[in-house]
Amino acid sequence: MIIAIASGKGGTGKTTVAVNLALAWGAPVWLLDCDVEEPNAHLFLRADSAQQEIITVPVPQVDMARCDACGECSRFCVYHAIVAPGTKPLVFRELCHSCGGCARVCPRGAITEVARRIGVIETSEVEGVTLVGGHLDVGVAMSPPLIRAVKARIPHDGVALLDAPPGTSCPVITAIRGADAVVLVTEPTPFGLHDLTLAVQMVGALGLPMGVVVNRVGIGDNRVHAFCAAHHIPVLQEIPDDRRIAEAYSQGIPIVEALPEYRALFRQLAESVTALCAARRFVTQGDGHEHRGGGETELRPLNPATGASTTEGANANVRV
Ligand code: SF4
Ligand code: SF4
Repeated sequence: MIIAIASGKGGTGKTTVAVNLALAWGAPVWLLDCDVEEPNAHLFLRADSAQQEIITVPVPQVDMARCDACGECSRFCVYHAIVAPGTKPLVFRELCHSCGGCARVCPRGAITEVARRIGVIETSEVEGVTLVGGHLDVGVAMSPPLIRAVKARIPHDGVALLDAPPGTSCPVITAIRGADAVVLVTEPTPFGLHDLTLAVQMVGALGLPMGVVVNRVGIGDNRVHAFCAAHHIPVLQEIPDDRRIAEAYSQGIPIVEALPEYRALFRQLAESVTALCAARRFVTQGDGHEHRGGGETELRPLNPATGASTTEGANANVRV
């Protein structure tokens, strides 16, 4: 079971929910910190030691002695990561998406691939939680390759919680794609509603079941709840606006450790999320039979909130 915890904007409490959900799960669980540009789950789950792996991606290297400046590689690369303006090519490694295409089209066999370091993955064990965190190197612009490397550590069975980057851009989609369900964390404020709306559209476009956790309940208004009700998105849990939570956060102490009375709240959330994943059933478009799992492109999901078949596409229940 793979559960992604995401939010339309930063600062909503996404990592707080991910860390405390992991600690309250009640069984061994994996927590994968996919917010590789700013990982912070390790600040709350402090391990004595961590195993480190350096992550690299392949980028082209040109043998100038073989190159005849034909420009085929430059014409092939849509990312302008290898440019040959009538001369032998220049390689801009930061722009390279590691597709390997330039090496294939080079008629002179002048291009080989070399490894470029993009970051590290740290793995540690803390209180029944296996924490896998990606740390992108300073100056590396593209985080999806490192996020994919973190996700490659997801175990074949068991429970994996993914702490996704904030927002709705490529890194988030890389993180949440393939999850069994997405938990969207938001605040009951106009900003929270605005960014939740974008996040709901994104998750709906991927055809994934979703639910909402409303953090800091007590501030703002009830428009987030009204939005969720109008779009049949379950509110999985509410976390009150409690000053003691902010104090524990500022000291890097998980809520369930600083304030054990909140453990039941996160246990309830674990049960709600498990139920949401169980509701992920598919019907094939062709034969009408029910199936579990399978490719996103050939299957359409049932409405996660109602269990009804979505006959107008995967995001029919979240049109906003
Ligand atoms: S590997 Fe792909 S993205 Fe990178 S320079 Fe070559 S063609 Fe461009
Ligand atoms: S395709 Fe090969 S030979 Fe042609 S410019 Fe690029 S590296 Fe040189």
